[in-house]
Amino acid sequence: MINLLDLDAAGLAALFADLGEKPFRAKQVSHWVHQRLVGEVEAMTDLSRALREKLAAVATIHGPTVVSDTTAADGTRKWLLDVGAGNAVEMVYIPEDDRGTLCISSQAGCALDCAFCSTGKQGFNRNLTTAEIVGQLWHANRALLADGVSATGRTERELLPLGGKARSAKGAPMTAPWVEQGRAPITNVVLMGMGEPLANYDCVVSSLRVFLDDNAYGLSRRRVTLSTSGLVPALDRLREDCPVALAVSLHAGNDPLRDRLVPINRKYPLAQLLTACLRYLDRAPRDFVTFEYVMLDGVNDAPEQARELAVLVRDVPCKFNLIPWNPFPGAEFRTSPRARILAFQKALMDAGFVTTIRKTRGEDIDAACGQLAGRVQDRTKRRIRIHSAAAATTAH
Ligand code: SF4
Repeated sequence: MINLLDLDAAGLAALFADLGEKPFRAKQVSHWVHQRLVGEVEAMTDLSRALREKLAAVATIHGPTVVSDTTAADGTRKWLLDVGAGNAVEMVYIPEDDRGTLCISSQAGCALDCAFCSTGKQGFNRNLTTAEIVGQLWHANRALLADGVSATGRTERELLPLGGKARSAKGAPMTAPWVEQGRAPITNVVLMGMGEPLANYDCVVSSLRVFLDDNAYGLSRRRVTLSTSGLVPALDRLREDCPVALAVSLHAGNDPLRDRLVPINRKYPLAQLLTACLRYLDRAPRDFVTFEYVMLDGVNDAPEQARELAVLVRDVPCKFNLIPWNPFPGAEFRTSPRARILAFQKALMDAGFVTTIRKTRGEDIDAACGQLAGRVQDRTKRRIRIHSAAAATTAH
């Protein structure tokens, strides 16, 4: 059976062509799946019974299997999703006054083994499918809407992309009321969860297309951010295929230190990476790159290292986001003291760079940045064992 969450617009068009149906059916079904967020073909009530039966014979809507769903004191909500064979990934919803951001995963585990990253310590399990990536946004929207959560404080202009102009064959609007009223709980998506998105290129790009599609989630390119550790050839492909906002995990201002912290640097060193960033900016929806920089006590957090960094990136339009490192068991690092992070920020700001310090969210549920996989593997196996008997919550 085909999972409809696995198909972008081109995939849906091909499916309906194969079924001998008119092309507009693809858009109609996309509205049902991604805007009305239905979980079964039978619910698509403006399709004839015969067409629903025809579609249901070959396709289904299969959302993620939720192992746990936890909300922190600050409203941050984390879902742990079973992806089979004892593996799990996490996604995190971060509500703010003017937006709701969903941080999603692209791989179960990660092969790149960055020294400070708990996901890297798990090793690589497998790439997520398009359905498993898109299914994260689909499920989070469903769960939040069911709880009455909607984005607040957004302007009408910002809401327009979610308005959906498509009409049914008879001219009636096909979008769901919550879409037309701009109450989508999730306004921004960041691929910063588990995995290196560009190492799962085809499924990630297909998912990005669904996120951006006006007949699906209709997010603007500026509101979808892909974070990479620097796979240069794939970054060049993304620039051509589907440019979205870009974040790069930099973490060091010279190659020897970055080789140690981000081993992929040995293959694509800083000079190559920064040149690729400049090429990317030609096509990017934002005119800057966000450089992420995890703050590791005594390793990369000295003011002179900030000044070295400033010289390194002087030709790249960019902002810095300093990330206080979140410890996990067995890690060799310590979190930089606050005063050192502030001194590092000041050195970058003095050099003319906008530099923010990431607010820690959801700490009490291990949803803070870099903790996405911390202790997950053991906990996941334990929970999956517990839940697999009977109680796993499925979302579809
Ligand atoms: S920081 Fe990103 S690329 Fe590096 S090991 Fe962790 S998930 Fe993989």
